[in-house]
Amino acid sequence: MTDSCIFCKLINKEIPAKIIFEDENLLAFHDISPQAPTHFLVIPKKHIVDIDKTNAEDKALLGEILYRATEIARSLGLNQEGFRIVNNMGLLGGQTVFHLHFHILGGRQMKWPPG
Ligand code: AMP
Ligand code: ZN
Repeated sequence: MTDSCIFCKLINKEIPAKIIFEDENLLAFHDISPQAPTHFLVIPKKHIVDIDKTNAEDKALLGEILYRATEIARSLGLNQEGFRIVNNMGLLGGQTVFHLHFHILGGRQMKWPPG
């Protein structure tokens, strides 16, 4: 937990979010500025700045995030037509919030290469 981290505040319910799923390790919630008809984020409750700052002890947590992202996508029916999971890391990756998060986007045709 860091005092200035917006996602830590969200985890601590200091600011509101449209929460989809919560357990002891993870929180999933709808993105405040959706870039697709469905756009949610899955984050660890542990404050990790980005995927580059993970280490061997985070392997299970990273697996949990992807597993849960897929479970939620399936529960929302996104698996019918497809969806995308995105992680932005650092400046060139386009990261703007420095608490590890995975985007799950669905409900429209995605493009490749991404912007
Ligand atoms: P990134 O650019 O990969 O760091 O993504 C950060 C994401 O967090 C963006 O899609 C933002 O719209 C989203 N975001 C920022 N603040 C909030 C918030 N309070 N609740 C939900 N999503 C947020
Ligand atoms: Zn944080």
